[in-house]
Amino acid sequence: MTSVTSPLAGDPEVRALLLDELERQRTTLQLIASENFTSLAVMAASASVLTNKYSEGYPSRRYYGGNTVADEVEDLARNRAMTLFGAGHANVQPHAGSPANLAAYLALVEPGDTVLAMRLDQGGHLTHGSPVSITGKLYRFVAYGVTPAKSDGTGERIDLDQVRDLARRERPKLIVAGTTAYSRTIEPGPFREIADEVGAKFMFDMAHPAGLVAAGVHPSPVGTADVVTFTTHKTLRGPRGGAILSGTELARAIDSAVFPGLQGGPLDHVIAAKAVAFAEAARPSFKKYASQVVANASALADALEGEGFRLVAGGTDNHLVLVDLRDFDAGLTGKVAQEALDRAGITCNRNQIPNDPRPPFVASGLRLGTAAETTAGMREAEMSVVAGLLARALKGRDDPAELEAVREDVRALRKTFDPYPEGVGGLL
Ligand SMILES: *Cc1c(COP(=O)(O)O)cnc(C)c1O
Repeated sequence: MTSVTSPLAGDPEVRALLLDELERQRTTLQLIASENFTSLAVMAASASVLTNKYSEGYPSRRYYGGNTVADEVEDLARNRAMTLFGAGHANVQPHAGSPANLAAYLALVEPGDTVLAMRLDQGGHLTHGSPVSITGKLYRFVAYGVTPAKSDGTGERIDLDQVRDLARRERPKLIVAGTTAYSRTIEPGPFREIADEVGAKFMFDMAHPAGLVAAGVHPSPVGTADVVTFTTHKTLRGPRGGAILSGTELARAIDSAVFPGLQGGPLDHVIAAKAVAFAEAARPSFKKYASQVVANASALADALEGEGFRLVAGGTDNHLVLVDLRDFDAGLTGKVAQEALDRAGITCNRNQIPNDPRPPFVASGLRLGTAAETTAGMREAEMSVVAGLLARALKGRDDPAELEAVREDVRALRKTFDPYPEGVGGLL
């Protein structure tokens, strides 16, 4: 990685920043549940000449010339997505998960319609009707939540009785399943039954578990939900982006909601990278990876309980754990914990827990995920080391020397599990 061969040699300022970020990713622990390390193939495709191309429209129905290659790239990405998930139609143009959700709403409901979705403070996403999101301004969202916590860990599950009661009372046009901070499996079947009973459409937002679904380690909502939205950059390990799956009967409505409904030209370079990621996710090695992600999350959950943390929903079925910090230390907020862990080289995010007494900016929980560190090669044994480092950092949060000592241990652990041992090739 000498500057002589770098395409960024002419802009040392930006190059230095990108090298700093590479260094950060290689020397600190990445436990943010929505992040991953892409392959160099994904990165190379998203850094390609397709960034120069305009291709408003869809393959063979473009508004600009010169789209023979762009058409082939998008067809390849769509076909790979349909094959991977067994869907009748795929739209790979959404720039991210949020525009994918907005496009699905545009296709399925009218402004002012009632939509039932998960409460934001119990695991839902901003695009599920937060008042600060356009989704909450355009539609009338009604929220369901989780059951109360129980000492045996069987509480804090999606409250399907509440979903049914609200659906019967509010008669929503659309029911949304899918979460951003929920550690248990979401079965699509019961949502389908409730939607059918009240004549609602059913959308499943699998932004988080898309990679687990692709690998068959989380039930697939494809075929059960009318529309499935997802991000390509979380457990699926592709480039930053979104996509929408549906049956063929909704293809036109979805496609015109994305373009011209919501976006202009697609990001063809990112679509090429999505194609690469879909092919990677179809490989047997990805199935092994996704199973290990889940096994690692379980191991992390067990080890954290051993360190005295309470886990929301009593543990995990997927790639993430939601830690309730209050049992470990009643005075420790999510905000303070996140900042102390940052100093110790452990990257994660604070998160509200169900019925959190603290506001979102402070919060009483931490959300941790294993998708990225599993890509880096960590297994169950490393998860207990990670839990130990995390507990040490939080206990020593007021002692700069202790935080520095943890940071050194993190750095040493990271040397053995480097996501980019050869750097990032000719890209930097
Ligand atoms: C991450 C996420 C999104 C949005 O994805 P962005 O790419 O950040 O816009 C939507 N829904 C859920 C449930 C998510 O977790």
